[in-house]
Amino acid sequence: MKLKPYWLDTAEPAGDFRRRGVPARADVAVIGGGLTGLSTALHLARDGADVVLMERHTLGWGASGRNGGMATTGLAISFGKAVARYGQARATEMFQAYNDAIDTLETLVASEGIDCDFERSGKLTLACKPDHYASFEKSAHLMAELAGQHVTLVPRQEMRTEIGSDFYHGAMVDPLGAGLHMGKFLSGLAKAASAHGASLHEDCEVVGLRRLAGHRHEITTDAGTMVADQVVVATSGYTGRLTPWLRRRIVPIGSFIVVTEPLSPEVTAELLPHRRMASDSKNLLYYFRITPDSRLLFGGRARFAMSSPSSDLRSGRILHAAMVRVFPQLRSTRIDYCWGGLVDMSLDQMVHAGEHQGVFYSVGYSGHGVQMATHMGKVLATVLSGEHRANPWADLRFPAVPGHFGPPWFLPPAGAFFRFLDLVR
Ligand SMILES: Cc1cc2nc3c(=O)[nH]c(=O)nc-3n(C[C@H](O)[C@H](O)[C@H](O)COP(=O)(O)OP(=O)(O)OC[C@H]3O[C@@H](n4cnc5c(N)ncnc54)[C@H](O)[C@@H]3O)c2cc1C
Repeated sequence: MKLKPYWLDTAEPAGDFRRRGVPARADVAVIGGGLTGLSTALHLARDGADVVLMERHTLGWGASGRNGGMATTGLAISFGKAVARYGQARATEMFQAYNDAIDTLETLVASEGIDCDFERSGKLTLACKPDHYASFEKSAHLMAELAGQHVTLVPRQEMRTEIGSDFYHGAMVDPLGAGLHMGKFLSGLAKAASAHGASLHEDCEVVGLRRLAGHRHEITTDAGTMVADQVVVATSGYTGRLTPWLRRRIVPIGSFIVVTEPLSPEVTAELLPHRRMASDSKNLLYYFRITPDSRLLFGGRARFAMSSPSSDLRSGRILHAAMVRVFPQLRSTRIDYCWGGLVDMSLDQMVHAGEHQGVFYSVGYSGHGVQMATHMGKVLATVLSGEHRANPWADLRFPAVPGHFGPPWFLPPAGAFFRFLDLVR
């Protein structure tokens, strides 16, 4: 079994961008080489800006190369909850932003000719309890009425048309959800950004940011110092001491994934006949899909722990057992890959993007960054040109997490709390 992301192991990297030193100046410096950073760099470079992107490890090393590759519709909270919190009109706009985000991804794939198995195979949301299915019915009604989004409900007795399992109590299908190969997509984004003139730097950690005036900053890296007219922080769940204000507002939560050996066409046709992007209705949810080469990818918050090789292995064992509970027919199927990564959760599970003390940022995708981080790269490029209204999240308050100043000490008690909620609700 390989302890590395399947996506990065099965795609050609865009190139070797390690240690080229940093230029003395740039129009824009982007910190972080995941979807947010690469998409920002690509969109800015396409518009003629002189962009330098700095990534501490390799491009896609963070959550962007470690996720499920599921670009799905809907917010990280239910539509009903969003309506109760923000009112009908605002909730509908926010919901629509996620549809726009999948469109952005699809457009980028086409315009840059990125071969990454992008397919609108649909999103399958699975009810863990009969009550959860009842809430799907309410949500479906609300989404159709307010957002014009039409989903299909699948009652328990018809579940075998969607999934080869009797574990769930009904489902909701949204045809707009899409899947893609993350390694190939990241590689395509990096190639495109570089071809449009962005200067990409791997193995380049930003260790200091000093405001000179307005948006202008001096940026100190372990490969040299530069000055940029504008700075974008795109560090999500890996936000650290460089930006303490942002760090206090993001909770990095470990999420883990196992991937099986390739399965036969008969088995994949039984497990997920439409190859949809599936996730269930628990707080500590499971999510799964078939990969382009016909393996089952199965993920979840197996434990409330950070990702490390030993932690990933322990989580992998828990996830393997969960996978067999959902799909008993996979009892003797081999696991080929196991890894973990950090999800960037905000307190309200909403995206937060804007400017703080002259530095631009976009973070807090709360498990929905495949499409939204890519989209926010495009939005940030527009915001940096002075079009602040382009940012759909600009008006949201962004409170700090009480008591959160460094590594998140509160994850084990928070995990126990969510596990308890899943038992009783
Ligand atoms: C296991 C897992 C499964 C997920 N599944 C899904 C899914 O199926 N669908 C979905 O929509 N979302 C999913 N997500 C969430 C999604 O992957 C993220 O929201 C998204 O990738 C965030 O992208 P990003 O570019 O903002 O951050 P990241 O990809 O995390 O990139 C941040 C980068 O910043 C770099 N960095 C940090 N500090 C510095 C510094 N000082 N100097 C230089 N570089 C620095 C890090 O090395 C890192 O590479 C999942 C996440 C995980 C962990």
